[in-house]
Amino acid sequence: MKKLVLYNSLGRELQEFVPIEENKVKMYACGPTVYNYAHIGHMRCYVFEDVLRRILLRDGYSVKFVMNVTDVGHLDSDSDTGEDKLKKQSTKEGKSIRDVAMFYEKDFFHNFELLNILSPDIVARASEHIKEQIKIVEEFIEKGYAYKLEDGWYFDTSKVEGYTCLNCVKDDGVVQDRIKATDKKNKADFAVWKFSNNGGEYEWDTSFGRGFPGWHLECTAMSMKYLGNKFDIHMGGVDHIPVHHTNEIAQAKALTGDVVANYWLHSGFLIIDGEKMSKSKGNFYRITDFEEQGILPLSYRYYVYGFAYGKTASFSIEALKAADNALKSLYNFETKIHFIKDLDISIDCDKDAEEKLESFVEEFDKCVHNNLDMPKAMEVVWNFVKFVNLNLLKISPSKIIDILLDFDKVLGFGFSLDNPISQEIIELGKQRFSLKKSQKYEEADSIRDKIQEKGYYLEENKEYFVINRYHG
Ligand code: AMP
Ligand code: ZN
Repeated sequence: MKKLVLYNSLGRELQEFVPIEENKVKMYACGPTVYNYAHIGHMRCYVFEDVLRRILLRDGYSVKFVMNVTDVGHLDSDSDTGEDKLKKQSTKEGKSIRDVAMFYEKDFFHNFELLNILSPDIVARASEHIKEQIKIVEEFIEKGYAYKLEDGWYFDTSKVEGYTCLNCVKDDGVVQDRIKATDKKNKADFAVWKFSNNGGEYEWDTSFGRGFPGWHLECTAMSMKYLGNKFDIHMGGVDHIPVHHTNEIAQAKALTGDVVANYWLHSGFLIIDGEKMSKSKGNFYRITDFEEQGILPLSYRYYVYGFAYGKTASFSIEALKAADNALKSLYNFETKIHFIKDLDISIDCDKDAEEKLESFVEEFDKCVHNNLDMPKAMEVVWNFVKFVNLNLLKISPSKIIDILLDFDKVLGFGFSLDNPISQEIIELGKQRFSLKKSQKYEEADSIRDKIQEKGYYLEENKEYFVINRYHG
């Protein structure tokens, strides 16, 4: 396998990736809380996770990818106070919690389709893993890791050695004063079970009281159920470092004595006007918001590649439009190569030029394996395009397409093996080309108009023609 270097938040350093089992990778991503529409901030995180998964697949690993969906237990303070985000939304919309969850979950996965993000192998809903979560709380109580307060059962963080191993704070059991409850033994202690007895939806009876699970518990229960006590990679946004992932590590340590995953990877925030884009602040865009401006959903994927994944990225429509133009140029380039291939234009193969192509693949490889350096990887893609354009009729188009498809295993732009322009339009182009050759210009121009009416653009020279979908 190729050497892959990743920035591990656990240890805060670049480390070579070594899987637990040879040729296999088990990875877990914290999924959405489905109480509102998915926005492009979330999608930055899921595109990053998708790129990592694609790199591993391209390298030949068999990958098992599990993602949770939070439909219960995430309170609106993001800690242990306030109302359940889904319950609150269900009251607002006058719908059942399940209907609210299903509606926004569907919207979330629609974003995956629009962005060509590979579906997880397993999607695990918190509300469908209550039995597993109850069992863990029972074990915490039995082993003395959980204690009871008026509003629920709390996890005693002082019982876990190295509680703050993921966080930068010294190991003094105080991460931050995120909960007001004065009765807690340690400020960082968090709820694993909250009491609730409204006779409503999403409450469960247990031997330790009726209620619902704490937010962090679901990821421990579901990651360990599907990936085992120890797996390779755990991912999420940077906001998960100090609380959610810290608490997941503590819970699993209480169960097994070990850190549950070897590599903890975090993607940076997408900010807008200096603030984190978030559902609760309402300062967000959805992918579908750009449709009217003719911006392709996949251009957001391109946009994300402009930033190192762990760093904060600032969003602007202008930059997204620039990404959209660049992606459309790439599609036009892809189409051009298909035309050169399909029209059987004579190629005067130059060995040196063909050999040089390999160096672009090597460079691309180096970049993506260097902690997913996508800004540099995209530079390589453009250098490749420039080089091909300069040597267009000296390189076998099939070779160029093979390389584009290989890059696309990581990029996910949807390049294709066959010409993306429909056969009907290609035939029109062929007719015009031969009419022009026979100097029947009037007829040739009427066909050109037909092609343009259908929204395509012709690019012609003496040797060949190309029909593009996009202005470029
Ligand atoms: P949530 O649905 O709020 O639990 O978030 C789902 C995932 O999206 C988490 O991993 C968050 O860290 C991530 N996320 C939320 N907002 C942003 C943002 N503005 N930029 C980047 N990632 C985000
Ligand atoms: Zn999680």
